[in-house]
Amino acid sequence: MHTPAYSQLAGALTYLSPTPLPAGSLVRVPLGQRETLGVVWEPTDAGSDATKFLDVNKLRPVSAVLDALPPLTPHWRALIRFAASYYQRSAGEVALAALPPQLRDLSSVQLARKLKKLAKAAAGAVTPAPAAADSAASPPGDLSPLQPHPDNNSKTIALSAEQTSAIGQFNQHPGPFLLFGATGSGKTEVFMHCTAQLLARQPQAQVLVMVPEINLTPQLEERFKARFEAQFDADAVVSLHSGMSPAQRLNSWLAAHSGAARIVLGTRMAVFASMPTLQLIIVDEEHDPSYKSHEGARYSARDLAIYRGHLEGIKVMLGSATPSLESWYHSRPQAEGGRYLRLDMPSRIGQGQLPLVRRVDMAHQPKGCIIAAPLLAAIAQRVARGEQSMLFLNRRGYAPVLECTDCGWQSTCPNCSAFRVFHKIDRTLRCHHCGLMERVPSYCPTCGNADISPVGRGTERLEEHLSELLADIRRPDGQPVRVVRIDADTTKLKGALQAQLAQVHSGDVDVLVGTQMIAKGHDFRRITLVAAVNPDNALFSSDFRAPERLFSLLMQAAGRAGRDAAVASRSEMWLQTTHPTHPLYEALKNHDYPAFAASQLKERLQAGMPPMSFQALVRADARSQEVAQGFLNAASLAATQHTDTAALLSHLTLYPAVPMTIARVANVERAQMLIESPSRTALQRFLTAWQGVLHSTRSAPECKGLMRWAIDVDPLLI
Ligand code: ADP
Ligand code: ZN
Ligand code: ZN
Repeated sequence: MHTPAYSQLAGALTYLSPTPLPAGSLVRVPLGQRETLGVVWEPTDAGSDATKFLDVNKLRPVSAVLDALPPLTPHWRALIRFAASYYQRSAGEVALAALPPQLRDLSSVQLARKLKKLAKAAAGAVTPAPAAADSAASPPGDLSPLQPHPDNNSKTIALSAEQTSAIGQFNQHPGPFLLFGATGSGKTEVFMHCTAQLLARQPQAQVLVMVPEINLTPQLEERFKARFEAQFDADAVVSLHSGMSPAQRLNSWLAAHSGAARIVLGTRMAVFASMPTLQLIIVDEEHDPSYKSHEGARYSARDLAIYRGHLEGIKVMLGSATPSLESWYHSRPQAEGGRYLRLDMPSRIGQGQLPLVRRVDMAHQPKGCIIAAPLLAAIAQRVARGEQSMLFLNRRGYAPVLECTDCGWQSTCPNCSAFRVFHKIDRTLRCHHCGLMERVPSYCPTCGNADISPVGRGTERLEEHLSELLADIRRPDGQPVRVVRIDADTTKLKGALQAQLAQVHSGDVDVLVGTQMIAKGHDFRRITLVAAVNPDNALFSSDFRAPERLFSLLMQAAGRAGRDAAVASRSEMWLQTTHPTHPLYEALKNHDYPAFAASQLKERLQAGMPPMSFQALVRADARSQEVAQGFLNAASLAATQHTDTAALLSHLTLYPAVPMTIARVANVERAQMLIESPSRTALQRFLTAWQGVLHSTRSAPECKGLMRWAIDVDPLLI
């Protein structure tokens, strides 16, 4: 009996098995000298044809069948098959990336033992008494530090009118849904309520909750755990993300696959979690770019969540205060072609206002000014009142470049088309692209001048500068101001971010400085001022999505201020800009995402850009731009010469190959080619047909020196 199984090779491979194996069975199979995990795939028509020609004597047997595990469901296999075909990869690669690597290392007996433990824990779970309705909101004006989060006492709270209406619509429609709720409008509460009502109805159901970055949203995890572990058992809520140890990841995966886990909370990889009784998918902060994978199969977990919902016939709810323009467009009225139902929650819980947006025109500030005087005064006022401020700047390090004042030498990276950043703390020059790190030279490497100086500013310099400016200001307790910086440099060590966040929550910190990582998600209760120090760059970027990302970041950041209704009325969002009347800032001032989205969609429609059209990028890496671009242009030309690709060309635009924005990284030259079509189907058909052409172009003599190429479907960064 032979059974085709997928490996990371392009097609299905065939192995012998003494007994018939149902499709979806997990096996271990020999592959060359190695042994790898395999999934038994149903024989396709092509597959059964091919097997006729196979020489049974040459086939190798499967090494082991992991029969302790129930087979992966047809839905799961269909999801993998779709993802592989849509993102132009092999099913084996997608399947293997979706399964915990440790499955390879354990025997069926060991797996059976683990499953038994999980089943026992689930059976021992206590059925809870219904919790009493109770308002757990914090008393107004109470800003006492170390106050536990209201959800931690796991009592249910009375829903707001907007929450009630959103949940009502959720219950009446099939979805998919876009929960469009202001920051602090209680979206998380809606997610938990929908989950709770489903589990009350169907105790065996499973819910998948996706979050962009688990480390940045520990509170969501905490709140779900607090609410549902009290109701079920400690294994009822499991996490799945890349920061887990292989053993933890295996345990979570087994809990999900065996049905022991009720709720799986995870990052983008969790969209592939095997959940046989999945009934609901929630995607929090659906606009977040981290849902898009940027290696291997470049899938969008948000888009796959929608597809998975459709496949399984279950509801999907996306949530955001600043939805992606794609989701916003899909949730236009049904009469205009919308496919998602939009659920509106415009108000913050407790009638809290959104912060007042204030723009400082930097053109009227002294030259070289980093923090404008009125902003500084506003921060000082907060310190004196015992409130917190948050400033963010999208550049870590001390200064983005060092320069010789004499000969003009600059700290370029020898391996990349980029500058090395000056980090004052350890006096190094570091390339943020290839990682090259060197001590700062004492003299200019070109002319020997001792006067080399930092140009521009990063978070490290901002922190230093602010501490100097605020040196004379005192807190209500008479102590000097405490400024803390949070960015990728201060949070490298495990637990560092958690420790720093705890410091902010406890009130130890007066001014928080950081990169955009502090602007997202955190429920800081004492912040009444948020400032974007230098947000203008994105206004004029060549990437058409840059304004969308900037608006979303600024709205998220504004949402960090005044989360406690008691201080909301005196909360402010400051923007330092040389374009104070830019329409993006006007829309931000009014907290008007719909107005911003409408103007962006109008531009996109005129320019024929997504979401009104569909794109793919082919990227190529080589030792020279000539080879990288040559390969892409040759493949583009070849598309006109093959009948199956040529037939589709009238539905597509293939642009000429261009260098990537940062053309060289670690001495590799990078080029890309954009393909655009008003039809998703035409683009898909073309890419599938073009794959073979790309492969054969690669072996052309002029493409010698090409290192790799990859297709990115629905790319986010152009
Ligand atoms: P979002 O996810 O939209 O930012 P959250 O769900 O985090 O909003 O809610 C903001 C705050 O309001 C949280 O502290 C939450 O516990 C609280 N909250 C949410 N819903 C209610 C409610 N119906 N009554 C009282 N407090 C609520
Ligand atoms: Zn010099
Ligand atoms: Zn470099």
